[in-house]
Amino acid sequence: MTRTEALRAAVARLLEAGLEDRAADDTRLMLEHSSDLSRAGLISNMDRPQPADEAQHFEALIDRRARREPLSHILGKVGFWTLELEVGPEVLTPRADTETVVEAALAAVQDRQAPLRILDIGTGSGAIALALLSELPNAIAVATDLSQKALDIASVNAVRNGLGEQCILVRTRWADGVDPGYDLVMSNPPYIASAVIDTLDPEVRDFEPRLALDGGADGLAPYPHLIAEAQRLLKPGGTAVFEIGYDQGAAVLSLAQAAGARVQLRQDLAGRDRAVVCRFMP
Ligand code: GLN
Repeated sequence: MTRTEALRAAVARLLEAGLEDRAADDTRLMLEHSSDLSRAGLISNMDRPQPADEAQHFEALIDRRARREPLSHILGKVGFWTLELEVGPEVLTPRADTETVVEAALAAVQDRQAPLRILDIGTGSGAIALALLSELPNAIAVATDLSQKALDIASVNAVRNGLGEQCILVRTRWADGVDPGYDLVMSNPPYIASAVIDTLDPEVRDFEPRLALDGGADGLAPYPHLIAEAQRLLKPGGTAVFEIGYDQGAAVLSLAQAAGARVQLRQDLAGRDRAVVCRFMP
């Protein structure tokens, strides 16, 4: 079989598995992953027979995707901001939505050369902390997680992106035991209502960590604590940015206002509320 033929057969299988939007793109990425060729090399060798070991590897990847395993787990990596991050079942795969949170934080920074102190609560893969550090060369970040396996992945990601010296990983619940003195307090907490999780795509429902998704009965459980912690941990003039679900803007806005914050909502690329930005008056 040529690669073109293998690709066609694989797309057909993934369409059958219910992957309408993703079948063609995902198949291409898995073909690339299973071959030793660069993208350009692959394009000019599509009509050559697929070598047996490549065919076997490709087939195994397609089998996994047909069972609705997330592409990011199959490839073991995902692009986020300008970085490549290792991911797996131990961490939430960073979404493009979360880049809105990074942008909101950068918009609050007046001098990108300043020696800022960043706290990322529940860092998972390290996505938010590392994206910010990549733009703030003199900053340091403390990134927490309850999961040691998540911290191990965040550590790999920090080192691979040349940010290991700027990133301190701490195993704790939320920001327990963290001392005040931060310019930015960040978090993408779990915010899906528990009962909604079972209605999500199998990729999320069956393969992503509940710890990173489940925000309790109404999905809002983490926010009162995060807001109180931001108030405790921020320096005067500091900013907190939290990711929220698309329908949680009004609720989180009033929680933060009730705590005395000045609050702004920011929208993602689809125009939905995605980040809440809080400043506290001294
Ligand atoms: N945005 C993610 C999703 O819809 C959830 C992220 C989270 O709970 N922090 O799957």
